[in-house]
Amino acid sequence: MLSAAATLLGQETKLRVIAFGAHPDDCDIRAAGSAALWTQAGVAVKFVSVTMGDVGHQTMYGEPLAHRREGEAKESARRLGIEYDVLHNHDGRLLPTLDVREQIIREIRQWNADVVLAPRPNDYHPDHRYTGVLVQDAAYMVVVPYLIPEVPALRKNPVFLYYEDNFQRPNPFRPDIAVDLDDVIDKKVEALDSHVSQFYEWLPWVDGKSADVPKDPVQRKSWLKQTRTRAIKPDVRASLIKWYGAQKGEAAKYYEAFEICEYGARPDEARVRQLFPMLGN
Ligand SMILES: [Zn+2]
Repeated sequence: MLSAAATLLGQETKLRVIAFGAHPDDCDIRAAGSAALWTQAGVAVKFVSVTMGDVGHQTMYGEPLAHRREGEAKESARRLGIEYDVLHNHDGRLLPTLDVREQIIREIRQWNADVVLAPRPNDYHPDHRYTGVLVQDAAYMVVVPYLIPEVPALRKNPVFLYYEDNFQRPNPFRPDIAVDLDDVIDKKVEALDSHVSQFYEWLPWVDGKSADVPKDPVQRKSWLKQTRTRAIKPDVRASLIKWYGAQKGEAAKYYEAFEICEYGARPDEARVRQLFPMLGN
């Protein structure tokens, strides 16, 4: 009886996080380390790519590329212990339409999300920008019962968080929450390593750096770790110290940071610690 009650309680209280990216690799870049830590803490995590990523390559496109990238996303999910969905919208052609907004609302409701992650709506890439807009547009509508009545509305609005970016206008990213990734950085690299078509082919090609990509699988991962992590800026360091205390916050080498969106639920410090059990108390 006790264990059944505990299981029931566990099901009721298990936290649920859903992350949106425009392409199958975007969520990984911004949140794979946090996903690994959440999973270790028993939190259910799902990544959603809003497009199929079907033009993100220099020698292949369309259905074969979409199929390859979906396989890479599923491999990343397997390595992280999460779920990964790819929505059937075309890469490079995403618009903030009612149709796609409703796809996003359905995903958030069906996942019964406590936390929703998304890009900010200012970005060089139109798909990233509109993914940010689409998730903002869903932020209130997820609780409205007669919008998409066949998928029950949430009774509690989730907390919406933005991924870190470097764009300064109209306002720079604010690292309200910073997660220390030192224990899981290799796991994050493993997730990125799943996206072979991107990190070892397309992105180096776009940057004119194809020759820099190591051939050896082990060297590739250390190259990823070097080139896909960034130095900690003072505002991120201050956030790490706020959440982890001086000793751990000063020592952290790898991180992911998030900004609390003004829409959706507004968490206080205690609620942030509940939603991010890896921060400790
Ligand atoms: Zn992208």
